[in-house]
Amino acid sequence: MKTDIVIVGSGAAGLFCALHLPKEKQIVIVTKDVAKRSDSYLAQGGICVLKDEEDYPSFYEDTMRAGHYENNPQSVDVMINSSRAVIDELVSIGVRFERDGEGFAYTKEGAHSKPRILFHEDRTGKEITSHLLERARERENITIIEKFTMVDIIVDGDACRGIIGHDGEGKYSSIVADYTVFATGGIGGLFEHSTNYRHLTGDALAIALKHQIALQNIDYIQIHPTTLYGNREREFLISESVRGEGAILLNGKGERFVDELLPRDVVAQAIYREMEKEGSKHVWLSMKPIPEQVIKTHFPHILRHCLEEGYDVTKEPIPVVPSQHYFMGGIKVDEHSKTSMERLYAVGETACNGVHGRNRLASNSLLESLVFAKRAAKHVAENYQAGNPVHAPDIDAKTYENYQEKYKTAVLAAIEKERNSHE
Ligand SMILES: Cc1cc2nc3c(=O)[nH]c(=O)nc-3n(C[C@H](O)[C@H](O)[C@H](O)COP(=O)(O)OP(=O)(O)OC[C@H]3O[C@@H](n4cnc5c(N)ncnc54)[C@H](O)[C@@H]3O)c2cc1C
Repeated sequence: MKTDIVIVGSGAAGLFCALHLPKEKQIVIVTKDVAKRSDSYLAQGGICVLKDEEDYPSFYEDTMRAGHYENNPQSVDVMINSSRAVIDELVSIGVRFERDGEGFAYTKEGAHSKPRILFHEDRTGKEITSHLLERARERENITIIEKFTMVDIIVDGDACRGIIGHDGEGKYSSIVADYTVFATGGIGGLFEHSTNYRHLTGDALAIALKHQIALQNIDYIQIHPTTLYGNREREFLISESVRGEGAILLNGKGERFVDELLPRDVVAQAIYREMEKEGSKHVWLSMKPIPEQVIKTHFPHILRHCLEEGYDVTKEPIPVVPSQHYFMGGIKVDEHSKTSMERLYAVGETACNGVHGRNRLASNSLLESLVFAKRAAKHVAENYQAGNPVHAPDIDAKTYENYQEKYKTAVLAAIEKERNSHE
């Protein structure tokens, strides 16, 4: 198959990028599972926005402090200053955020010094991404191919000219393109406990390693302090905004042991310490300080899910444990989301533009994904040059035998190496 631009991944980043590419270009989006199975659908808490000009210094400082000041200041500035335009666009395509009279209602999460997060119940990601998917499906120039897994890229000289992958039946084929965008999300599938979908296994990172495409800070991995303790495929996240609204963490004796609004990594460390001290597999989270009405209106999904697992959060504490949640590092990109390889871009969680530094501030990732996906689209459009004719490669399926296992091993080894170099 041949197209103008191929985008790998149908989460918020991939879809927003596609929607900002010129309508006269043919775009193919491929996705490993069905289009709706992306982490973007799972985002509960919300999306940050620059509330007003006075909020800039505090938003900037909160992002930098959470990132241990290892953030790229230019990327942080771009994200914050682009936030309102992105929110306006989302509203214009039908995304609904909670309102307070005429204006928006804002909530707060850990490490935010002010409320600046827009939300839709506790399903903000689904509200945003389902609208993006709907718009993408309406576009005649965008084709979405589900259950197509990228396993490699086509390289011509110093440029990326498309991808190689297989369909649901394991049949290999290639998609030749002038430009390729990786929007493959996080790496949760590499870990035993993660809030991510299991099919998100960092495939783009493995492919980047194979082709010497630059990576950055791949050992910067965020652990979410509060996921519901239990035995399931994907850990269920108890959003940070629950603590923002007043929920408290308790040890086995029912005592508080940490300021719940400290940055995620600090809270997660405190939980691990407490678990070790007590020899327990989890700590407790009590939503008792939150008025029942607020729980019902702001956290209906969490309320319902916990009830299904046998816990009534309006009456009793729930067992929680930290889990892998977010990937701050990734494929190194510049301010236009371009990688070190010609004609190859990376956006969303799989990319690293340095916005998050060592640790992401809650609710900055959807925003970052959208802002930098749009910038990638703009850069491709402004610099578009048709590539030299490239033949679809002959694919020997044997080359990719057991690739998933091999890729997983390669990425985990690279993370370990990076961690050692940071110590
Ligand atoms: C439970 C949970 C709650 C969250 N809450 C929030 C929140 O409140 N606010 C916030 O800002 N962020 C939140 N996040 C983080 C945020 O959802 C993600 O960082 C963001 O949505 C990433 O978007 P993305 O488009 O980069 O990746 P994703 O939405 O994960 O999409 C990745 C896509 O890549 C595809 N893919 C992967 N590998 C391949 C391959 N080899 N071939 C083909 N396709 C492939 C997948 O099928 C998928 O379509 C949360 C995350 C989780 C897991």
